[in-house]
Amino acid sequence: MKNTIQTDVIIIGAGPVGLFSIFQCGMMGLRCHVLDALEMVGGQCAALYPEKPIYDIPAHPMISGQGLVDQLKEQAAAFDPAYHLGTQAQTIKKEDDYWHVTMSTGQTLQAKSILIAAGVGAFGPKRPPIDNLVPFEKSGAVQYFIRQRAAFQDKTIVIAGGGDSALDWTISLSEIAKKIILVHRRDNFRAAPDSVAKIDALVAAGIVEKAIPYQLKALSGDEATGSLEQVILSHLDGSEKSIPADILLPFFGLATDLGPLSNWGLNLHKTHISVDPTSMETSAAGIFAIGDVADYPGKLKLILTGFSEAAIASHRMRALAFPDKVFHFEYSTTQGQPGSPSHTK
Ligand code: FAD
Repeated sequence: MKNTIQTDVIIIGAGPVGLFSIFQCGMMGLRCHVLDALEMVGGQCAALYPEKPIYDIPAHPMISGQGLVDQLKEQAAAFDPAYHLGTQAQTIKKEDDYWHVTMSTGQTLQAKSILIAAGVGAFGPKRPPIDNLVPFEKSGAVQYFIRQRAAFQDKTIVIAGGGDSALDWTISLSEIAKKIILVHRRDNFRAAPDSVAKIDALVAAGIVEKAIPYQLKALSGDEATGSLEQVILSHLDGSEKSIPADILLPFFGLATDLGPLSNWGLNLHKTHISVDPTSMETSAAGIFAIGDVADYPGKLKLILTGFSEAAIASHRMRALAFPDKVFHFEYSTTQGQPGSPSHTK
């Protein structure tokens, strides 16, 4: 059918677990098409903490969120995956032995297996209730995810929020910003005690200023160019104050939503998809779920757990794709990979 692309596995979600599953599927001889609602790969690691160090990835004593994503993408590249970024998986239907996934682009993917690695769902930032946000979001004067710390050099930054992200970025950016004003509605942070102590030290040293108890009220600047001039705050007593600023970083958490996936008729446990942990198969034959989105007794929401789940699911999906082929398990050291001298498949 026109507009339909056939493949072996449709992977929904290009977070760390979805990326590693491309490699695992590749080792099983399965070609993958990968969708992600975001415009980039890497899921939470790339969108929420690209520069933070991760310490519990095997054989990496320390690796940044983005560093891990870059390595996973490189590892997957040997199997030539097709990425559909900025694209959401919307509906599914089964015809004969094949699942059809319609994408927000209007195209359809067709495969015997769907692998859902959708993490916390298609996520987006919780935005502050300010009327004229859009022009400042477009210009980058209001940002919710930090991609490159260097872009904040010598800027006056208002950071709003009272959780780990707000405090971590206040501490990190205080090294390079001209000035940081931390806005929170109460003098009580929901963050690691060590971070709270560091903020207190930065305030005492005059490097960071606190605006507490205040909330974001409005923005003023040039809406035509998106150039921000002032962030207007309201006090709990109703009074207001205006702070000159170049950039506003609201960290109010993530709005997460399984979205269309919750209407696919799969067994759910709250916002997670129930699976059989011996195969990672969901309640629908041929649909698998791995990583943060998958639920079973004893589930650990860790990247390394998701990697193992990717390996388990890929074996079952291989059996579905090639039911008549006898399977001989080989270690990667024996099998090699495309382009390596020992490649056997
Ligand atoms: P995600 O990373 O959430 O990626 C899922 C992707 O699916 C997203 O990109 C989303 O856009 C996409 N998606 C969802 N629905 C759709 C749809 N319908 N169509 C298209 N795309 C869709 N874990 C550790 O192991 N060690 C740590 O040190 C650690 N530190 C962390 C620090 C922070 C600040 C945070 C927030 C998390 C941390 N984690 C850590 C948790 C770790 O990031 C997650 O376990 C991991 O990202 C889960 O990977 P995933 O691929 O399952 O999902």
